[in-house]
Amino acid sequence: MQVVWFKRDLRILDHAPLAEAARRGPVLPLFIYEPELWNGPDYDPRHWAFARQCLEELDGNLRRLGAPLVVRCGDAVEVLRSLPVTAVYAHEETGNGWTYARDRRVRRWARDSGIPFFEFPSNGVVRGLRSRDGWSRRWKERMSGPIIEPPARLLPHGVDPGGLPPDHCAIEVQKGGERAAHELLDSFLARRGERYHLEMSSPLTAEEGCSRLSPHLAWGTISSRVVFQAVERRRQTAQGTWRMALAAFVARLHWRDHFIQKLEDEPRIEFENFVRAYDGLRENEFNDEWFDRWREGRTGYPFVDACMRMLRQTGWLNFRMRAMLVSFAAYDLWLHWRPVALHLARLFTDYEPGIHYSQCQMQSGTTGINTLRVYNPGKQWRDQDPASEFVRRWVPEFDDPQRYPAPIVDHREAARRAQARIRALRRTLEARTEAEQVRQRHGSRKRPSRRRRA
Ligand SMILES: Cc1cc2nc3c(=O)[nH]c(=O)nc-3n(C[C@H](O)[C@H](O)[C@H](O)COP(=O)(O)OP(=O)(O)OC[C@H]3O[C@@H](n4cnc5c(N)ncnc54)[C@H](O)[C@@H]3O)c2cc1C
Repeated sequence: MQVVWFKRDLRILDHAPLAEAARRGPVLPLFIYEPELWNGPDYDPRHWAFARQCLEELDGNLRRLGAPLVVRCGDAVEVLRSLPVTAVYAHEETGNGWTYARDRRVRRWARDSGIPFFEFPSNGVVRGLRSRDGWSRRWKERMSGPIIEPPARLLPHGVDPGGLPPDHCAIEVQKGGERAAHELLDSFLARRGERYHLEMSSPLTAEEGCSRLSPHLAWGTISSRVVFQAVERRRQTAQGTWRMALAAFVARLHWRDHFIQKLEDEPRIEFENFVRAYDGLRENEFNDEWFDRWREGRTGYPFVDACMRMLRQTGWLNFRMRAMLVSFAAYDLWLHWRPVALHLARLFTDYEPGIHYSQCQMQSGTTGINTLRVYNPGKQWRDQDPASEFVRRWVPEFDDPQRYPAPIVDHREAARRAQARIRALRRTLEARTEAEQVRQRHGSRKRPSRRRRA
């Protein structure tokens, strides 16, 4: 039996492993619930709640084709060993350190057992990349490639399908499944996306004005190629603000893989600073009480707290507000990015390790190659929520000193100190040499625009 192993690719459209296995013979579609992964420090019941919905729909779609999804719980190697496997088909996964180690074990088992293990690229990320030169061209080629139709039919496999573990999530997550992904894409391209570039920054407008595709891209209910090609078709007839909006959106799809490629090339950045010269900068000054207050949304900075509270309750926040939360933790509170990143990973339904760790390091100033960007929470509040509508919604007690705490630190003073410390380190020969290596390995090859160069 040819096993198609579903991981973070919970769809049937544009699924190369499924199509290829079906072309060659009978297929056993498999999902392995791995307790060690789901109980890991970066996972939360909200992830399972979303994935479970996706899996239920996937099972329905596969049943209609003729072969239900088989669900097993346990260690991947043990599960594969227990099934009548002749070959395994899967997408390449750029996951966390745990899935990286698990994939190596599965590959070793397959090799030792003489079972072919076919892995297919899952998006624009290139496995075994030697150099970033020409990466964008390759990305465009992959995104423009043919979309793979689902097999017309699958032969019944007769294996007991098992069942999905229950969901114990306390919040309502975004709706999972392929249908929900396509509905979001359609409504974004028909209506919601018209002012995307203008509405993405404020938490008041971003919920509706951004695509909201992130958990779907992260769990693979839609491929980035399908999204890219739908946007390119829409661009052909786009007028007025739509043009800017769609160009900005395609840039983000490109960033998505650009960031994931970094983790693919250097898995250690999930745990270690991009530039090792920054080691020791924050580790020994971690203030647990400040960390707790940041996590709970009680820093005394209403706009920061409103963002954290919305995230805890909904599992989503727009880009600028995510960046502000990390900036506040990293500069104002001088917290190391690693516990900060784990906390946010648990809160983001769309947790995507490749984007997440790169972004958390970038917003904490440890990549060595990005401009230090310190967000001023007062200015962000004035700019993005001038009538305090958002703050009132999430922190209704903000103007009552009996119920709401005083600011945890003085922003200007804390940010000035933090920047001075990082800049001093940045100037050292060791940090500059390492930063150059990071730029060579991971930096975008796009030339800066003429205006920026000037
Ligand atoms: C500290 C921090 C952590 C982040 N962690 C994650 C994460 O774990 N998972 C995740 O999907 N995104 C992450 N992002 C990026 C971004 O905030 C989200 O992708 C976006 O807010 C999701 O909403 P959307 O789908 O409506 O995005 P849209 O604005 O509609 O963008 C469409 C898609 O493009 C990609 N994208 C958008 N912005 C970025 C970006 N800046 N970098 C890379 N890809 C991008 C995403 O796949 C997104 O779904 C993080 C950003 C920051 C600052």
